[in-house]
Amino acid sequence: MSQNILLNTFETPYTTSPFSKIKDSHFLPAFKQGIKDAKAEIDAIINNSDSPTFENTIEALDFSGEQLDRISSIFFNLNSAETNDTIQKIAQEVSPLLSEFSNDITLNEDLFERVKSVYKSKNELDLTTEQQTLLDKKYKSFSRNGANLPEDKKETLREIDKKLSQLKLKFGENILAETNKFEMLITDESDLSGLPDGAKEAAKQLAESKQKEGWLFTLDYPSYIPFVTYADKRELRKELSLAAGSKGFKNDALDNQKIVLDIVKLRHERANLLGYKTHAHFVLEERMAETPEKVQSFLNELLEKAKPAAEREFKNLNEFAGELDGLDQLQKWDGAYYAEKLKQKLFSLDDELLKPYFKLENVIDGAFIVANKLFDLNFKEIHDIDKYHEDVLTYKVTDSKGNLVSIFYADFFPRAGKRNGAWMTSFKPQYIKDGYNSRPHVSIVCNFTKPTKSKPSLLTFNEVTTLFHEFGHALHGMLANTTYPSLSGTSVYWDFVELPSQVMENWCYEKEALELFATHYETGKLIPMDLVEKIKESATFHEGMQTLRQLSFGLLDMSWHGVASPKTISSVKEHESEAFKNTTLYPEVEENCMSTAFAHIFQGGYSSGYYSYKWAEVLDADAFEYFKEEGIFSKEVANKFKDHVLSQGGTENPMTLYKRFRGQEPKPEALLKRAGLIKK
Ligand SMILES: [Zn+2]
Repeated sequence: MSQNILLNTFETPYTTSPFSKIKDSHFLPAFKQGIKDAKAEIDAIINNSDSPTFENTIEALDFSGEQLDRISSIFFNLNSAETNDTIQKIAQEVSPLLSEFSNDITLNEDLFERVKSVYKSKNELDLTTEQQTLLDKKYKSFSRNGANLPEDKKETLREIDKKLSQLKLKFGENILAETNKFEMLITDESDLSGLPDGAKEAAKQLAESKQKEGWLFTLDYPSYIPFVTYADKRELRKELSLAAGSKGFKNDALDNQKIVLDIVKLRHERANLLGYKTHAHFVLEERMAETPEKVQSFLNELLEKAKPAAEREFKNLNEFAGELDGLDQLQKWDGAYYAEKLKQKLFSLDDELLKPYFKLENVIDGAFIVANKLFDLNFKEIHDIDKYHEDVLTYKVTDSKGNLVSIFYADFFPRAGKRNGAWMTSFKPQYIKDGYNSRPHVSIVCNFTKPTKSKPSLLTFNEVTTLFHEFGHALHGMLANTTYPSLSGTSVYWDFVELPSQVMENWCYEKEALELFATHYETGKLIPMDLVEKIKESATFHEGMQTLRQLSFGLLDMSWHGVASPKTISSVKEHESEAFKNTTLYPEVEENCMSTAFAHIFQGGYSSGYYSYKWAEVLDADAFEYFKEEGIFSKEVANKFKDHVLSQGGTENPMTLYKRFRGQEPKPEALLKRAGLIKK
């Protein structure tokens, strides 16, 4: 027994985390010991005197480091949901240790030799499909990092990686500096006309915090978005919009044009070095979409369908702006403003109107009932396990026979120490070892409105769909039924991971589902169905233009990363205009450039991946269409979804899994219908 509880077997109900006994001071020593032990496990695999087999190498590798993973899960989940200065400091100290440890594995030549030897004999081994997938995945985690290259090329690869990480850093620093540099100070109150009180108040406070008189607006989203959406003064909207659109594009010290070209060329070179035609080919090898050609035709097919609707919507919006304010040409800085006005005119939907029908407790029950009707799951609140905060709710999830399926944590309210947004995570993965199916501990974390003394927590409709979304991810984790932990639950290709979450949102729009839980918290009356219809309609407002915008970003991404000779590109702006030529609605703005501030693909991890937003929508609409054909609570369809998708994790190619569920490849028609882009 160690003095450090994190290093012991948890003697708790369902071996859940003993939060009440874990002290912040336990983490750092536990991490250090955990890394040491994990290293010893890796060494034992390398030093095994038996020749490499699937079991003694691949399987052993996947089950290694279990203790370290458990410590990491607890620690990083706390750092997101219940952090403090100490935890943040430990995170700073521990992150480089962890990345060094994972580099030690992927760069370990002796370990790679053993993995490669098993990989080479894979056709002679009698492996299950899941084992083949695991072998492939392990092998690629080395080969995609250059393990097969001769020494001099390995050196080149390291050089490229180093340059790329510096360039990405610099790209982000420039954007941040551009964002922080810009300020628009308003001193004449009449210039605030149209803005909601909250936005005015925030601007006043911001000015005060910088010892300025008046109202201060910046390029930060919470300041920028309300201004371009509501401010009546067109010239001021233009000023702000031009500033936002020209980040990294002013030929000054913060310019990103050369950085964009350098990143694109280096990524291409890196891909070539590893034997891929382009960076997009390299990335998409581990995606459901598989090839750039497939992504390109996917985007183009949607474009063809969305464009007429987008042009129609744009024309209407232009006319609306003309009638309202005598505009003859809608400019970029007018779009959000007139769209909001038109939306109010068409729907006059108010959050306050809907909220009484969505008391948090009712919505949670609703999600549980839906999961019960579809997948026979039962949720029972339990009070005998530790929580990391008193607000956290804990449940035991069982199947129809009473077998344990999962432990489920739900953490709904904002507080200091919790980051923004909503997410699903887990404290323990599912896996099967020595014939025992070890069940997962899954959690969802949100930031919903807290109850007050006089009012319970009442959710906006957006929060309702958020809850169902995260609950969908949670079901993917809970229903996992695979052998290997690295293939379990949500460990799937990332253009597939949003299917289970997004598909769950669909139930929120269905009468049959809303009847189960959307009742007024005071009167008990069911939500009026004309309100539901309005919600549905407003959800697809300007869907053509929205779709065109998303597609334009996806096409721009592919134009940078899927071309065979990026060396010939000399002008960022020219290249971009060419990529946008089929998706432009607004008049061209000379001063603006999207690429020089496209952080998703040049700083974050979305290069050759921007298409996946639309891809996931196509999947969820197509999957839900199947439910609608057979009834939204069809047991038959639900069972197929559970057996072929939710329980399978990443054990097979997602397209294979999907086809087994649906009987065919996903088609865009259901999405286009739902979005109102083609006739129902
Ligand atoms: Zn999600």
